[in-house]
Amino acid sequence: ADLDVEELEGIGRVTGAKLKERGYYTVRDIAFASAKELAEIIGNEERAQQIIEAARKMLGLHSFISALEVYERRKMIRRISTGVRALDELLGGGVETRAVTEVVGEFGSGKTQLCHQLAVMVQLPEDRGGLGAKAIYIDTENTFRPERIMQIAKARGLDPDQALHNIFYARAYSSDHQMILVDQAKSIIKQHNVALLVVDSVIAHFRSEFPGRENLAERQQKLNKHVADLLRLADAYDVAVVITNQVMAQPDVFFGNPLRPAGGNILAHGATYRLWLRKSKENIRIAKIFDSPYHPEGEVSFRITEEGLVD
Ligand code: ADP
Ligand code: MG
Repeated sequence: ADLDVEELEGIGRVTGAKLKERGYYTVRDIAFASAKELAEIIGNEERAQQIIEAARKMLGLHSFISALEVYERRKMIRRISTGVRALDELLGGGVETRAVTEVVGEFGSGKTQLCHQLAVMVQLPEDRGGLGAKAIYIDTENTFRPERIMQIAKARGLDPDQALHNIFYARAYSSDHQMILVDQAKSIIKQHNVALLVVDSVIAHFRSEFPGRENLAERQQKLNKHVADLLRLADAYDVAVVITNQVMAQPDVFFGNPLRPAGGNILAHGATYRLWLRKSKENIRIAKIFDSPYHPEGEVSFRITEEGLVD
């Protein structure tokens, strides 16, 4: 069960209310917080540190554990099938909860299609690859299409209206708004059985609001906080977070791949898993995992059809 922040020693009603206003509802939220961020709310960093320590102790997260226990905890990770057998195999069974999966690729490579598909797949019962749960969809590029959800749902034997009903949708109008929506997502997750949070795309607003080298430091700082928030949410609420990212051309590369993911090292270090999509002939797409702590390197292909993504 989720313990209310006010269960923590030294947190009264007033501080409790302040914390909740800023998106820290539970002891778990505090355990995964950064001291700097908390200090902004409760006044000083030392006190913030103490409260975080206390929260971690309460949840048994404060010290060394055996690798066996790590293994036991990893067994609690749940997976959402992508609906594409080859892609599931590549991902080790599907998209993981408690992790951030980044999908990167050029325009038209199928990132948004995959997000739509996952928002449907998560709703399927467990014996059919889903988690019998709902999805939250944060759309920054206005490319979410309910009609597409209905098509995919129908193809998977779900009632299309019910499938739409199970997706909480928000359009993000700026990077600030996008970050606020992540806070609001937490309160939805607390009230509903949500197992997937999509942010499509994670980077678009940041790139357009902070153009050029002169804004790079500020952009990366903000993006860093955003990605850290997403990782904490995934971990604290046992949710799969899927974010999409754009690719940039590197003008100085003559051999090998001239494209690289946008967002620089922030996304490289923030995302748990990185999936690269690229176009092949017609409706065929190729997916590859890169930078993974344990997935083998390799490529698989799938098709984008009326029914969604298929082998
Ligand atoms: P990205 O988000 O990476 O820019 P998308 O996920 O929007 O790319 O993928 C666009 C591709 O999906 C296009 O090639 C388009 O033809 C295909 N697509 C979209 N809807 C359908 C559909 N209903 N049937 C078949 N293909 C579709
Ligand atoms: Mg897209």
